[in-house]
Amino acid sequence: MLNRWEGIVLKTRPYGETNKIVTILTREAGKVTGMARGAKKPASRLAAVTQPFTHGSFLMQKGRGMGTIQQGELLSSMRQLTQDIEVTAYVSYIVELVDKLVEEDQPVPHVFGLVEQAFHAISEGYDPEAIALFVEWKMLPVAGVHPILHQCANCGATEGEFAFSFKFNGFLCHRCFEQDPYLIRLNPQLVRLIRMMYTVPIERVGNINLKRETKNFLKKIVRTIFEEQTGIRLKSRSFLDQLERTPELRTNREPESELSD
Ligand SMILES: [Zn+2]
Repeated sequence: MLNRWEGIVLKTRPYGETNKIVTILTREAGKVTGMARGAKKPASRLAAVTQPFTHGSFLMQKGRGMGTIQQGELLSSMRQLTQDIEVTAYVSYIVELVDKLVEEDQPVPHVFGLVEQAFHAISEGYDPEAIALFVEWKMLPVAGVHPILHQCANCGATEGEFAFSFKFNGFLCHRCFEQDPYLIRLNPQLVRLIRMMYTVPIERVGNINLKRETKNFLKKIVRTIFEEQTGIRLKSRSFLDQLERTPELRTNREPESELSD
């Protein structure tokens, strides 16, 4: 069957002398893999459109299993995503997370929308680390994890002071704090931020400036959830961890004080 799909290239690997096997997250058909014949040759019509992170429109012959990419048309090269080592590291992390969690040939239009919004925000100069954090929180349900963040996970209360509990997979109100001796206390701003990261679409957030310690704190929580509940561990994480420990490699994007609403 011949299909015209809008997609974002997640990854490619060489196949033989001149071909590439390309994994694309499409808006219509989810994650698909296709052979791009001749795409390794710079003069190939498929060379530019099969670069990682490219947003394009693809004509693909596909039945079950691997398809063949017949034509591709560039919608956006997403060039800004590959111009800076730190930006590229976060983009690679987002792509690896999505690739790990999304099954082949299952339509996931909300995940396509999430990646598209994340890439556009990063291209426009938004803090890639904050955007990656939004993606991590929003990918939890794709991994089958549904934290309870709109109310107390134990008693259902919506008012009060809240803490995060790994045991209850969500917020606990102050009335239920004794239910989990290992809970993590949160101030109201962190409660709002976690809810926003989980529920508000990236395109509606605007440019968000978060302090280094806020990002580190929120990252620890979401990564602990991923590790404890899904067991996934990402290759691109170790490079990011190294980058985050080496301040001289980092662009200073953190504000002196935090913007809150
Ligand atoms: Zn409660």
